[in-house]
Amino acid sequence: MPKKAEVRQIWRCVYCNKYYLVRHACETHERYCGKNPTNDHKCLKYCKHLRDGGIGIERFWCASLREPLYSFGAERSPSMHGHLGNMVRMPHECEHYICDLGEDQ
Ligand SMILES: [Zn+2]
Repeated sequence: MPKKAEVRQIWRCVYCNKYYLVRHACETHERYCGKNPTNDHKCLKYCKHLRDGGIGIERFWCASLREPLYSFGAERSPSMHGHLGNMVRMPHECEHYICDLGEDQ
């Protein structure tokens, strides 16, 4: 006997349209979605001052501010939660920003 089709409610991310069957999962995704404007870090647009912070992909160093930085990715990483208080969240805009696409560009 064939199974009957099921109609279910879905939730869509308002930023990227990815869909979820569980509302909480969608809300969590929206908070950390790479297309969420609050997660748009100027530093990640090839700023020449941005350096690898050495520990994990979410940890960075700004050579201009001389401070450790973190991205929205660190906020979703439980292993980073104990470190965020001593770091600066990457800004949306920065007066020190200088685009550096490298020598190949
Ligand atoms: Zn999304």
